[in-house]
Amino acid sequence: MMNEIKNPLEIYAALAKTNCGQCGVPSCMAFAAAVLQGQKQLAGCPYLESGIAEQLGQRVVRRRCLEDDHRQAIQLLQRQVAELDFSSLAPRLGARLVDGNLAINCLGKDFLLTPAGGLVSECHLNHWIHVPLLYYCLLCQGKEVQGEWVSYATLPGAAEWSQYFSHRCEEPLRQLADAHRELVFELLHLFGATPVALSGGADHSLLILPLPKVPFLINYWEPEEGFASKLNILLDRSAEENINAQSINLLARGIIEMFRQLILRHSKEGKLF
Ligand code: SF4
Repeated sequence: MMNEIKNPLEIYAALAKTNCGQCGVPSCMAFAAAVLQGQKQLAGCPYLESGIAEQLGQRVVRRRCLEDDHRQAIQLLQRQVAELDFSSLAPRLGARLVDGNLAINCLGKDFLLTPAGGLVSECHLNHWIHVPLLYYCLLCQGKEVQGEWVSYATLPGAAEWSQYFSHRCEEPLRQLADAHRELVFELLHLFGATPVALSGGADHSLLILPLPKVPFLINYWEPEEGFASKLNILLDRSAEENINAQSINLLARGIIEMFRQLILRHSKEGKLF
């Protein structure tokens, strides 16, 4: 039996080691690692003879990566969604039927879910929103918004995600708002945010709709002399009957990452802070 390749160095040894970048990554070592992760094909290096690429390719044992898990999770959810009747589901979700697909509005933009659970949209959020959309179809009980705003940590199933929610969602959004306040608020308005007369003395309280029946309330307190700014993202109590904590986390993370990318593109120096 041929020796299996599990180490990027073994692939690296066969490469030209010029770090020319023509394969789409900055170095030969990065290319070797990407091949093992299944993100690149050996044929992507124009300087590797096809015969050698073929031999190596037969020996490469691709590592299981996060993308594999993500793909597998999506396939599992898609199989369950494929059994749903979209026409009776649409009103419960606050969605519409368009040519047999479910049109679900996220931040003012429609995302189309096909009957097989596939996602049709060109928006930046694609990667992040697919799992939450599928869960929304499977879990949403159509509970109307209650107007009772609660912290993420109080939702069922949030315990294992709540640290992540504060560190990877609320905190980065606070830092973005501190550094690029006008842009952040412009973006929020662009994605359908509406001001709300609330909430705990915040300087800005904005409502956004990542899913039709899962609103987020973003509260931001500007920094004052001697005091740092504060930001929290609250959920309506009804969220616990319309989606799960993991999906809320993914949605928040996706939105903030999208804002970060958009602001990065607009910032003159090409950096955020
Ligand atoms: S194209 Fe080939 S030689 Fe160039 S960086 Fe990529 S792996 Fe290295």
